[in-house]
Amino acid sequence: MTKFVFVTGGVVSSLGKGIASASLAAILESRGLKVTLIKLDPYLNVDPGTMSPFQHGEVFVTDDGAETDLDLGHYERFIETRMGKVNNFTTGQIYKSVLEKERRGDYLGKTVQVIPHVTNEIQEFVLRAAAATEVDVAIVEIGGTVGDIESLPFLEAVRQMSLKLGPNNTAFVHLSYVPWIAAAGELKTKPTQHTAQKLREIGIQADALLCRADRPIPQEERSKISLFSNVPEWGVISMWDVDTVYKVPRMLHEQGLDGLICDRLRLNTPPANLKRWDDLVYETGHPQSEVNIAMVGKYVDLSDSYKSLNEAIRHAGMHNHARVKIGYIDSETITPENVGQLGKFDAVLVPGGFGKRGIEGKICAARFARENKVPYLGICLGMQVATIEFARHVAHLADANSTEFEPDTPNPVIALITEWKDKDGTIKTRDENSDLGGTMRLGAQSSDVAPDTLAHSIYGDVVTERHRHRYEANVNYLDTLRRSGLVISALTQREHLTEIVELPAATHPWFMGVQFHPEFKSTPWSGHPLFNAFIAAALRHRDQAAPDHPAAVANLKVVA
Ligand code: GLN
Repeated sequence: MTKFVFVTGGVVSSLGKGIASASLAAILESRGLKVTLIKLDPYLNVDPGTMSPFQHGEVFVTDDGAETDLDLGHYERFIETRMGKVNNFTTGQIYKSVLEKERRGDYLGKTVQVIPHVTNEIQEFVLRAAAATEVDVAIVEIGGTVGDIESLPFLEAVRQMSLKLGPNNTAFVHLSYVPWIAAAGELKTKPTQHTAQKLREIGIQADALLCRADRPIPQEERSKISLFSNVPEWGVISMWDVDTVYKVPRMLHEQGLDGLICDRLRLNTPPANLKRWDDLVYETGHPQSEVNIAMVGKYVDLSDSYKSLNEAIRHAGMHNHARVKIGYIDSETITPENVGQLGKFDAVLVPGGFGKRGIEGKICAARFARENKVPYLGICLGMQVATIEFARHVAHLADANSTEFEPDTPNPVIALITEWKDKDGTIKTRDENSDLGGTMRLGAQSSDVAPDTLAHSIYGDVVTERHRHRYEANVNYLDTLRRSGLVISALTQREHLTEIVELPAATHPWFMGVQFHPEFKSTPWSGHPLFNAFIAAALRHRDQAAPDHPAAVANLKVVA
């Protein structure tokens, strides 16, 4: 039978509940348990797919094509169990499901209410997610902060679950904030006392309190928190700021969090073995060299917007024993006059994105990388701009564009599948049974990789990666692009969707665009082969060109 740990948060958001939950899961996994994580989001959007990355950070995509909260990315990077659609749900999904049942008459004429119908639905969703993977322990992270109106039904639902399943099958961990007040020179425990009380008002007694602060919390303050929150002293755990999130599992283990949870849940396991986490932390702290990557994007001022990508780049850095410095460059500021500044970086990366803003700057960056033999990796939109650039400047298709940016472009080298029309108006290669036109291509898909290509040296015969996009390289232009020297190194068999484009080794040392999002599958353990190869190419380029590495680049807006 699966046991549950419910993780709630108090005082303020953004304390790192996702990392705390993932870290606890990782420690339990290292004790030989099979663990999964489930994220409950209290907002009304049915999924985060339609939410702006400015507001909500990156949309993470699972193998089964769910568009989820970015915390699921942390989960997959921290534990072995893969996430899927069932691992993340929102109030919007719960209400949708309840209302559908109501319309079908499933409630047999009863008055449909938040308690019990919404709270029952939440419990069913949680149990279903746990059952999907048959785990020993499911860690359920509840979004929002205790005291919010919108998270109340979730808290009520998990309170009921713990009543039904009994004390040895459920545990509660509460993440709180202990601010340092500089003027008084003191850590203040009052907000934590209050949030623990607020939780008790709802009927939940925390078994452990994870106290976030900018520094370790001394014994005296911990005793005080224990007394007022009714949590034994050994359950008051200090979680201070660290330079890498990979230090958190050891920090929590050293203070006995996993021991406490295993006692509470009557789980008899071998002790935790965190060696691989220690090795990882050592590797991050001891790079042998440094490499500078220009990331030319739009949502540049919020690192959460490119969370998985940033992580994937860092993993590849570790794999190559190099510290990677990322220069986030706002593509709107790039012009043909100043693009030469990119030469001060060791490689250029254009990440995914939606909409027209900043597109010409990205095309400029792709051109610069191609002409100057600077390693280039284009991801999703980054592949599309590289294709447009090649079409315009090498294949002489003037005004080539994507119909996303210019619906009436004379040369739609990138377009919706429904727009890939022959002159007589019939759609080429479109499969009768598929409904991809105008909708997102989501989740994992595979295709064959052409032999003797850069892609083949990375992936071997088959590439399987996750997707999240609408527009595709227009099959009607592929021959023209190929004749001008573009290599289409992976193409889906059935629908002729371009997965990878590259430049041949004879013309460029490392230039590749991929229609998928490899960053979602990178883990810290061995990195991801594509990013590992990209960073290795950047290091080779650095060694050959030996450019100077200024901290900032004049005229271009470099964020962070
Ligand atoms: N906007 C492009 C599309 O929809 C690229 C999407 C992306 O980069 N994720 O096809």
